[in-house]
Amino acid sequence: MSDKLITVKEVSLNNNCPECFSKEGLELTFKQQFIETKFSKSITQDITTQMHCNICDTIIYPVNWTEDIERVYNYQMKAFTPKKVSKKFKPLFWIVIGVITALAITAVILVFINLPESL
Ligand SMILES: [Zn+2]
Repeated sequence: MSDKLITVKEVSLNNNCPECFSKEGLELTFKQQFIETKFSKSITQDITTQMHCNICDTIIYPVNWTEDIERVYNYQMKAFTPKKVSKKFKPLFWIVIGVITALAITAVILVFINLPESL
């Protein structure tokens, strides 16, 4: 079982980068966590955001945010709609279910065949 993040949304911000002061580089990325197992993939409600500047190639951590960035961030958080929580089963899951069903049917048939005739 492993936890992974998928990028759901990327927004370019018009704010100045606190590192290089460029107005064109800031990008806010929304990521959602999904859990992958041998049998299924499920999207969780866990959202992670990351701010990154494409000009100076720096991750901008909340400690370095200006008030303006914070305001824009809060606005973007409100505007963001996460992907619905969902679970998808992988083929292996259906194979296992199929085998279990087949075994169950076989068991039922065997029980019927072996029923004493007096019933
Ligand atoms: Zn920068």
